[in-house]
Amino acid sequence: MSENLTATTDVDWTILVELDKKHFLHPTSSIKEQQKEGPALIFTEGNGIYLKDTDGKEYIDGLSSLWNVNIGHGREELGKVSMEQISKLGFSSTFATFSHEPAIRLAAKIAEITPEGLNTTFFTSGGSESNDTAFKLVRHYWKLRGKPEKKKIVSRRKSYHGVAMGATSATGLKPFRDFTTSLAPDFYYVDSNLEEFKAFIQKEGAETIAAFISEPIQGTGGVHLPPQDYFKEIKAICEQYNILFIADEVITGFGRTGTYFGVEQFGIVPDLMSVAKGITSGYAALGGVIISSKIHNDLIELSDGLFMHGYTYSGHPTACAIALKNIEIIEREGLVNNSKVMGEEMLDGFKWLQQEHEIIGEVRGLGLMGAIEIVKDKKTNERFNEPFAPKIVSESLKRGLIHRGVVYEGADTLIFAPPLIIDKYGINKMINILNEAIGTVNRECSV
Ligand code: PMP
Repeated sequence: MSENLTATTDVDWTILVELDKKHFLHPTSSIKEQQKEGPALIFTEGNGIYLKDTDGKEYIDGLSSLWNVNIGHGREELGKVSMEQISKLGFSSTFATFSHEPAIRLAAKIAEITPEGLNTTFFTSGGSESNDTAFKLVRHYWKLRGKPEKKKIVSRRKSYHGVAMGATSATGLKPFRDFTTSLAPDFYYVDSNLEEFKAFIQKEGAETIAAFISEPIQGTGGVHLPPQDYFKEIKAICEQYNILFIADEVITGFGRTGTYFGVEQFGIVPDLMSVAKGITSGYAALGGVIISSKIHNDLIELSDGLFMHGYTYSGHPTACAIALKNIEIIEREGLVNNSKVMGEEMLDGFKWLQQEHEIIGEVRGLGLMGAIEIVKDKKTNERFNEPFAPKIVSESLKRGLIHRGVVYEGADTLIFAPPLIIDKYGINKMINILNEAIGTVNRECSV
């Protein structure tokens, strides 16, 4: 091929679209649609809550891209810190007895900001690796404690925990599991009620169950909040039966819900916590599993050989340096509190939309995570035969707002998670665009 494949100025985008179709297999995509249309949007720049496409059109990034760009786009400070770190020490390993300053400092900083008792971090490159690590770690832990039969992992039916083999196996949302054939053994799902969990323990026997995993607020499943005391009761059951509790904070960590970590909203401290996304606000690929001092001390005491688990990029120095700067920005700019205050503003906006539109059922949210249910009948919550959410998403996109529609397993839900830097003006703009988008779809569908 004769085109300059690396050029970034004076780009002929029609060529890039063809190259995309031919050479780029997109994650979580419709392969047929991509072959027909090519990429719908190619983004070239980001600034604050906005992304810009090849035509120079701006969009509010209403899902913080993938719930991760917490501090917003275009932060030069992060460019500077990565350049400095790469120039000084672009990479070195943390395997065995080697270490480096960014990973050490980040692990210590994480211990400072996470709930009391969670003090030690194993680094990964993202959420899926974090959860797979957590699953292997809890089984390893029980093995060291002389209970190798304690290996079952229990998760919730609307959960999402990633796409690695263990993470997919733990994901309650069936379409993600149906993508492939055989999955990892010893994963089980319960509905979000205590009775089913208790019945499961009675049936299987606590001596076979290693851990329970849950997102504090289910994100990909449609922003589902638990009943207020749900986690306190689940944690009490876990303690009673010696089952470890893993909080999947991949979305809810680093300020998303209006507290630093989602579990703080529910007054519990997990035994392990998976993080990723907001740890770097997406400026580098990084995740981690944070373990309690109790688990760490037991590992120190009982370890009988090497800890045979590690990724090449466990504690990548540049990613760790970026994470440290990202956390500094979250703290300096008070973004955890802004998430709480602007989250209330966003929810008020949703409530206003609910009054304006017949097709809006329940609205909900916590911090800057929110959802709007689309219904045919507000009183009965009956759904339309065909989901409306994708049509609303595409009307919003035309008007400069990116958000997601959830249609798995009968849902018809709009979900939102704008960057934590959003202000009242940004929220109003989102609500106004949604008002028009929902109105347009409603009118078109009722003629
Ligand atoms: N857990 C949760 C709760 C998530 O939302 C995600 C990603 N959306 C993951 C795990 C997987 O993270 P990653 O895509 O970084 O592997």
